[in-house]
Amino acid sequence: MSRRLIVWLLVACPFPASGAAQASAYDIVIRNGRVIDPESGLDAVRSVGIRNGKITAVSRAALSGRTVIDARGLVVAPGFIDLHAHGQNDENYRVMAQDGVTTGLELEVGVGDVPAFYAERAGKALINYGASASHIRARMAVLKDGGVALGTFLPLDSAGHKVATNAELAEMRRQVERGLAAGGLGVGMGLEYTPAATRHETLEMFRAAAQYHAPVFVHTRATGLYEPGSSIESYLEVIGASAVTGAPVHIVHLNSTSMPATPLTLALVKEARGRGFDVTAEAYPYSAGMTELSSPLLDKFANGPDSMFAKLMLVSTGERLTRASFAASRTPGSVVILFLNTPEMEALAVSSPLTAIASDGLLVNGKGHPRTAGTSARVLGHYVRETGQLSLKEAIRKLALMPAQRLERIAPMFRNKGRIKVGADADITIFDPATVADQSTYQQPALPSVGFRHVLVNGVPVVADGVLKEGVYPGRGARGPIRVEH
Ligand SMILES: [Zn+2]
Repeated sequence: MSRRLIVWLLVACPFPASGAAQASAYDIVIRNGRVIDPESGLDAVRSVGIRNGKITAVSRAALSGRTVIDARGLVVAPGFIDLHAHGQNDENYRVMAQDGVTTGLELEVGVGDVPAFYAERAGKALINYGASASHIRARMAVLKDGGVALGTFLPLDSAGHKVATNAELAEMRRQVERGLAAGGLGVGMGLEYTPAATRHETLEMFRAAAQYHAPVFVHTRATGLYEPGSSIESYLEVIGASAVTGAPVHIVHLNSTSMPATPLTLALVKEARGRGFDVTAEAYPYSAGMTELSSPLLDKFANGPDSMFAKLMLVSTGERLTRASFAASRTPGSVVILFLNTPEMEALAVSSPLTAIASDGLLVNGKGHPRTAGTSARVLGHYVRETGQLSLKEAIRKLALMPAQRLERIAPMFRNKGRIKVGADADITIFDPATVADQSTYQQPALPSVGFRHVLVNGVPVVADGVLKEGVYPGRGARGPIRVEH
């Protein structure tokens, strides 16, 4: 046996003979926690040894390390991966870390300048981050949308309402491909925000993604709230584009793009998967959504019945709208909460084995939707502990493993995330299953969750004994392979 192999065994052997021999082997040891790994099915008391940002032991024996975290009575889970996190700054990362999230990804809307996105966060991020190449941003840039100058997040005018010429479409595709070549984690689309994008344009974006074996993350074209059946037609548009081009498709927030049709869209996704198509979906555990009031998504409200306006809450003031205040408030960038779904449809989407959990979160100066700060805790507190609609292992699968599996073909680094196993990144969430709970509300959306005792990102504690650490930035860019442009 070579000396090298002996050293490797000492470090990596999952069942070491003696704790004493391990005295200096680990930077951190998480001792005696209930370790749940949804991939292997492990659910047992173990100690986890961490070295150089990686898990190097998962052991029945009590390991020793320079730092020991006593996890007795706590659950030790892989860090949660949020596929749908619009808030990509410190304000958002802080509440996400306190909700057990170790990787937050902007995949639905995506970003226009992929290299700049990663460069701006390098060495300055509390948690891991990443983004897709954005169809919406390319459309806003190429069609000179008024929102670009005004700094809106979503289209304001031409990107929503103008049909692109062939030359404009070619330029959009070129911009999206440039983002993929720079390591973007897929293509982000929001067809309800770009209703003038034709079915041909959708196909072109899927073709771009397919060239890079990249998934398309898509907010589908219509919710079914206005025209019965439109959500099904919208799902068929993107599943069809995926089938024709070979690019995988991930349908974001299935709950909010299905609403009353949730049983039907879930059946559709299941059927497509059963036929071998690479179709995945996600949901967030709330019955209300949030978006920019100025975006094309709200156009149909203007012609709708009076009763609908009271379902909208202006984020800046908390007031419910009327037809008159709706019109007056539709200024660029103003944000609204939409109370449109039912708890029954929410529960169906969240508890389905087909959906990953993703927050769709965004806080700006403490204002926004409670999902940013509370999504994981609401799943673990409400759906697991209070109602039993999800088992603990299934919830952790939906919060950690499924998102990693969605990304691991485009970005092999995700094979080492979403799991507690030797060799995995030490992104770890340790929580008390008896007390974990969301605190954020529609009135106070930035209140951090409780019950997450320790959260580690790449082996560095970002939450310790329930307290957020200051001045640590262990987050790394999560990206696909960077290709040379040609
Ligand atoms: Zn969306």
